[in-house]
Amino acid sequence: MTAAAITPELLDAFVERAGEANIAKLEKQLRSANYCARPIRLRGRIETCDAHGKKRVWSTAGEPDGVLRKACGNRREAVCPSCAERYRYDALHLIGAGLRGGKGVPETVAGHPLVFLTLTAPTFGFVHTCPGEGRRCRPRRDAETCPHGVRLSCGKVHAEDDPCLGEPICLECFDHDGALLWNNLLGELWRRTTIYLPRTMAHLTRRTQKRLKRLVRFSYVKVAEYQRRGLIHLHVVIRLDRAMPKYRAHELHPPAREFDLELLEQTIRGTVETVSAPMSDELGGGRVTWGPELDIQRVGESFDAQRCARYLAKYATKATEQAGGVLHRVTEREVDALPVRPHVREYLRRAFVLDGHASDRRLGKTAHAFGYRGHCLTKSRRYSTTFKALREAREAFVHEELLARTKDATQLAIAAGGDRFVFMDFVGQGHITALDDWLAEKGREKRREDRLAAVEALADHHSLRREQACTTPQ
Ligand SMILES: [Zn+2]
Ligand SMILES: [Zn+2]
Ligand SMILES: [Zn+2]
Repeated sequence: MTAAAITPELLDAFVERAGEANIAKLEKQLRSANYCARPIRLRGRIETCDAHGKKRVWSTAGEPDGVLRKACGNRREAVCPSCAERYRYDALHLIGAGLRGGKGVPETVAGHPLVFLTLTAPTFGFVHTCPGEGRRCRPRRDAETCPHGVRLSCGKVHAEDDPCLGEPICLECFDHDGALLWNNLLGELWRRTTIYLPRTMAHLTRRTQKRLKRLVRFSYVKVAEYQRRGLIHLHVVIRLDRAMPKYRAHELHPPAREFDLELLEQTIRGTVETVSAPMSDELGGGRVTWGPELDIQRVGESFDAQRCARYLAKYATKATEQAGGVLHRVTEREVDALPVRPHVREYLRRAFVLDGHASDRRLGKTAHAFGYRGHCLTKSRRYSTTFKALREAREAFVHEELLARTKDATQLAIAAGGDRFVFMDFVGQGHITALDDWLAEKGREKRREDRLAAVEALADHHSLRREQACTTPQ
């Protein structure tokens, strides 16, 4: 993304801001708000005591526009590219630490049985797809014609960005209710899957579950991806750890040799084939299961750990926009007027209809998420570090930097982290002038360039060291 061109509006804002002579201060604030695209604006003061017990008060009155800007913290790229980028980096560290170690996780985890798998949804109707390698969408010479008079075939080769991808070949034939309910019950299906995994492994190794649970522990991290047809795929990393007694539960050790990749794969396949979750009678009864496709890759063997972490982190900042959905919760009345494709509108409409049958499934409240109630990224407790720990480490680092730089006694007292009393009021959200927007975008771009330069410098450094190692006589 490039910074916006300078418009007359921007120039006006520039002149106005330059008159205030506080652009540098504004830039500083935008930087500490992570160059957020929709910063939260607060007005108020922070009171604290310095090391000598003297009261220190910091107020937003001396700041640009008399406000403090704070990052919105939204994880979705379509809402705030800047906060989403930070979230993606955190996700990358969190996922990567469980695969390779780091952030308090021992490096030996890389030697545990580790697999990456994708759990898919069943089919709820034919949609336009892009199978890749120049293959056609759904060519059928003797295709049947549906009750709505649509021939259920498509001989086109769709480009990857073709807007028709994910659209049903016949909108009326697509089972939107089934798809919504499947998404809705996905959390329960996953929960049952995690319960069945040790059960299946116990069966395969001819042990009781109780005995097995004393030997191994399943750790995982999973990310939900919306496919264009509106259904969710789960991308999951599963790692086998040695079970530890309660007082050493935080320790990570490899399981006994017998619990190898082969056994883990068999356990997963056996579980995914048999597990199901019940649907309530008001919603038609029956059970939901995983789709027929199951892809399992061995991390470290067929799938590189770094690539795996990047792949998962990428999806952590996206949601229904992948399927042309809306970014916010909607009400039933808004549905008809929304600028969405018919397939999405049908999802929204049916969600409210189903909500009338069974309000406890929250289908109306989750209509914008196509019925899915869960979080985008979740992990088991012992997989690796947490978002909270990563955030706290970053904040501590920023505080240290600030302490090293500033001479302002009030700022020093606040950064020192003693008792603080915060009196802040919410003023609004977003940038005030076009200039602020422009500055934030420029800051984002600069930061991205710096990051790339740092990565390149690191790569140069490594290759130089390799060269030196090669030329150094043994
Ligand atoms: Zn933001
Ligand atoms: Zn097609
Ligand atoms: Zn039809």
